[in-house]
Amino acid sequence: MIDYRAELNPAQLEAVNSLEGAVLVIAGAGSGKTRTIVYRLARLVESGVPASSILLLTFTRKAAREMLERAGRLLGRQEECGGEAWVQGGTFHSFAYLVLRLFQPEGYGRAATVLDADDALGLLQICREDLRLGKGDRSFPQDRAVLAILSKSRNREQPLEEVLRRDFAHLLPHADNLAMLEKAYAVMKRERALLDYDDLLFELETLLRRRPEALNWCRRRYRYLMVDEFQDTNLVQARLAALLAGGEAGPPGTEPGGGNIMAVGDDAQSIYAFRGANVRNILDFTGVWPQARLIRLEENYRSVQPVLDLCNTVLDNAKSAYRKHLFTRRTGGALPQVLRPLSDLSQGEMAAAKVAELLRLYPPGEIAVLFRAGYQSYHTEARLNRLGITFRKYGGQRYTEAAHVRDVLAFVRLLLNPLDFAAFRRVTAFIRGIGGKTAFKLHQALQAGESAVLEKACLRYPELGAQLEFLDGLRLNPGPPALILRAILDHYQPILEQLYPDDYPRRLLGLEELAGIALNYEDLDLFAADLSLSEPDESVDNRPLSGDRREQVTLSTIHSAKGLEWEAVLVLDLVEERFPSRQALLREEDFEEERRLMYVACTRAKSYLGLFVPASLHDRRSGGRLPALPSPFVRELPPTLYEEWREGFLGLASPRPRSAVETCDYERSGPEMPGYEALAPLDASADVFADRPAAAALTPASSLGYCTHKLFGRGKLVRFMPPDKYQVHFPGFGLKVILAAYLSVEDKA
Ligand code: ATP
Ligand code: MG
Repeated sequence: MIDYRAELNPAQLEAVNSLEGAVLVIAGAGSGKTRTIVYRLARLVESGVPASSILLLTFTRKAAREMLERAGRLLGRQEECGGEAWVQGGTFHSFAYLVLRLFQPEGYGRAATVLDADDALGLLQICREDLRLGKGDRSFPQDRAVLAILSKSRNREQPLEEVLRRDFAHLLPHADNLAMLEKAYAVMKRERALLDYDDLLFELETLLRRRPEALNWCRRRYRYLMVDEFQDTNLVQARLAALLAGGEAGPPGTEPGGGNIMAVGDDAQSIYAFRGANVRNILDFTGVWPQARLIRLEENYRSVQPVLDLCNTVLDNAKSAYRKHLFTRRTGGALPQVLRPLSDLSQGEMAAAKVAELLRLYPPGEIAVLFRAGYQSYHTEARLNRLGITFRKYGGQRYTEAAHVRDVLAFVRLLLNPLDFAAFRRVTAFIRGIGGKTAFKLHQALQAGESAVLEKACLRYPELGAQLEFLDGLRLNPGPPALILRAILDHYQPILEQLYPDDYPRRLLGLEELAGIALNYEDLDLFAADLSLSEPDESVDNRPLSGDRREQVTLSTIHSAKGLEWEAVLVLDLVEERFPSRQALLREEDFEEERRLMYVACTRAKSYLGLFVPASLHDRRSGGRLPALPSPFVRELPPTLYEEWREGFLGLASPRPRSAVETCDYERSGPEMPGYEALAPLDASADVFADRPAAAALTPASSLGYCTHKLFGRGKLVRFMPPDKYQVHFPGFGLKVILAAYLSVEDKA
């Protein structure tokens, strides 16, 4: 038996004991909202509700999995977790996929394939080229930007033109062409039975509104619905929640819903408006559910008082609907620190040194470095590498985005959907002579059943014949996913060696992992969907499949850090135009969203919070440094709430090799605090990330050779782009334009 009284405060207990009806828990960060859900899951099961009739939806599948496991542990039934008979959990998207798979939506003759972001991009490009848009017109937005605009318009449920008017006024002259492109893209997807990420939610809604048997199935199967992070749901997600639980009537012939829904969230942490999240969902909950019980949690269990004081101040200045002032019983604790390095480059060094210092107090898994955008941590990464501190980066390149993994998945997808154009294109791209256009024509012929065209092509390109034969063979003799993967890997290995001669062994290891994952699946389509369904921000790094994540320091975007907590948290780049971003300075509502982001970042810290405010930023155009203005979120903090540390001139001006002890010549302006003397010395030899670009790296190369980049590895220099950049080809990552200062160019001698 779980002793709920010992584990929960009275407000939490009330939420946990409200087993029936609609409940809204609205409360600030760290007040135990997620904990409340976990205990309520346990309580429901304990009270006799079949576990499999509970559905938990949240922001990432990882978060859902963790919550289900915690509930399983509480009940001593952890071995059941993940099984069909246990509580079901995931994201709205993964849930949508599950239901769509059971009830194939109208208009799709067969199971639809889910496109990942890159495939969607490829598809859009074809539509654009088909319509001859943007050719020679540099003012026409890039495909990636177009996709983002289309996605915004869908998620916000605003017509394209309105989105353009609000956020992309400079693109209004292209409004008609963009609308044409939008349509062509939608037709293309439909014809080829492809769904992009956004489609999943809308297709599910259409299905539930049109087919009573589908909604009935959902309502019978899932009698209890719980949603965490409700403030970041978008309109269609809120409608889906209402439909599932019965807050909205279904089509004629549907049984009434059970009305058991618990939504949990914090309006002050709504940080996904840019992607269509609508904080009104949480504020309007009682409109949909007039009988809903509203529960507020006010005690914070996460942070020490000084950290909480700072967080409360950030929030006090927000224009929030629900005023919250959290208190904690965690007494003691040091003041948060504001750390002012001379530049964003030395910030990397200072942050890494701080991590080293914190490692004396906390295990690596209890330390996080947070930032707005992935690039902001590059310097810190390099410095951490230098110090030999391993870390996991969340929000960077994902495993399934690696080219070789996508190649192998393309075979899998062609098995599932022979007309999946994006996959077809990928597989034919291995073949010399077949470019995008030919691939498109071949695919058209394939669709039209013109086998003569394909036969002719196979004569012309024998390798094409080999690929298609391989696929046909596999399709005729299907087996369990693990066997199929094995066959594909055997087939793909020679291609891999040819494509990536310099690092195929490493890539092969990654593919072996993929084969390992396949072992857990019985259905090939679930395996494929799971790999394409990861959230845009789902926290996965290049090696998500091995190693214990608590053993490593975390580097993460703030968006990916939602809901998580660490003993020590560092936040980088708190200067104007970076945090808040430049665009956010223009419009109040965007600015307010940045403030909430700041609130989310600071409330991740349990005991230590360090805010980095570099005094200058590297300027790409001039190659020099521009002074930076501290973020308004730091400027508005009363100095009594933090202590301040400044980097002195002396250390950085020194031309000789430096150690951290010398460079981090901090001046103390706050009250008594431990000094930096204890910093671990840096290896000061190869200084790739020094504040001044290495002379060799800046010399325009007359005949170009190779270089190394901390993240992309070894690459071939393609051309020098004055004044300070190179275009480099990195195997596996493609062409990149990179500042010379970030490359170490290999000595050709
Ligand atoms: P966020 O808004 O960041 O998602 P949250 O409201 O979901 O935060 P939790 O993550 O559930 O908060 O809880 C924060 C921390 O406080 C966790 O470590 C949790 O275990 C702890 N905690 C919450 N409630 C209690 C309690 N009643 N007793 C002891 N610890 C608690
Ligand atoms: Mg939470």
